Amino acid sequence: MEGDDMNLKDIQQKLMTQEEDSIKLLKRFVEIESFSYDKQGIDNLCRVITNIFQELPVSIEELQEETLGNHLRITYGEGNRQITILSHLDTVYPRGTLEIMPFRLDGNKVSGPGVYDMKVSYVMMYHLFKLLRENKGPGDDVRIVWLLTSDEEIGSPSGKHHVYREADKSEVILVLEPTGGDGALKTSRKGGGKFRIEVKGISAHAGVNPEEGANAIEELVYQISKIAALADSSKGTSINTGEIRGGTLFNVVAEHAVAEVDVRVLIPSEAERIENAFKSLTVNNPKTSLSVEGSIYRPPMIRTDKTGVLFNLACAVAEEIGLTLSEVMTGGGSDGNYAASRGVPVLDGLGVVGGYAHSPEEFLWKDTIAERTSLLYGLVLSLIRKQHWHIDNIVN
Ligand SMILES: [Zn+2]
Repeated sequence: MEGDDMNLKDIQQKLMTQEEDSIKLLKRFVEIESFSYDKQGIDNLCRVITNIFQELPVSIEELQEETLGNHLRITYGEGNRQITILSHLDTVYPRGTLEIMPFRLDGNKVSGPGVYDMKVSYVMMYHLFKLLRENKGPGDDVRIVWLLTSDEEIGSPSGKHHVYREADKSEVILVLEPTGGDGALKTSRKGGGKFRIEVKGISAHAGVNPEEGANAIEELVYQISKIAALADSSKGTSINTGEIRGGTLFNVVAEHAVAEVDVRVLIPSEAERIENAFKSLTVNNPKTSLSVEGSIYRPPMIRTDKTGVLFNLACAVAEEIGLTLSEVMTGGGSDGNYAASRGVPVLDGLGVVGGYAHSPEEFLWKDTIAERTSLLYGLVLSLIRKQHWHIDNIVN
């Protein structure tokens, strides 16, 4: 930090004294339920965020959606150099979850639906913008764009286009998804997709005329064993048939069967291999027919040299508050995957420390709000000023 600034340790201390306000703010966000398919809930959340951030020197744009929730784009500064920060508005919890899983503060533990993934990130951004304002803003040549997508938990069918647009204008992308379990940042993520295999057979009486039938379940089992063999753990490729349905009764030759399959890949060429393999599946029993739908829609987020430089910068900043950072690869996807696919350096997992996202036990550790917000602030400030790190080395 420059001489006239508070050092990061002081910033962290200051944020600790504001913990009660942070928790109050977090509670407000968590108590507006915003399930991915709940447009009304997400749009309400947009309004609350807009009201709270209006007092800051930012411009706020609500990006309208017809059936999904609206997205938000909040900008601070008007410079030409863009630093983009990503959050999402949606959660995996349908409306009503709050009744059985209320917002709770228990010592250092805060729990509730979406508290950790990733409503706490709005609290972090509130503090970040306030700290920047106290410190003369982002400067003349930088603008900070905070994009909140409404559909991340369902693969960002609409939000990804906004992510692409911002990524193409950005020097770097910071993603406020939760940290890895022990506080690690996420420098690579698997990509993935979903496939559906549907078999049509011919129904018949299992005792009277089975030879006239064609069993869709047996055919599906054959197909499932073929696709299971496509997995390759040495390359990080996994296949999970997570759901099957089919048949009517035990004594009827099954006319119909369906499987839903999850695929994760770490290497782009694997995505192509798997997609081709699904496309070229052929029936074993010629009396049945097969239809295959799906794709690998989320590209893997690959750890490049630029990612490494960005991670090292974060480590240098973290040292100022006595924090040693580590990095992990994760099988879960985020908007970071889409951003990284445009060739811009992405650092993900810059949220807080906690656990059990997407489950009734979801929680975060309260004291990491101040810790990770000061890390984020230090990181953003270093990027603005090109301190510690020569941005020109990684920006084309
Ligand atoms: Zn998330």
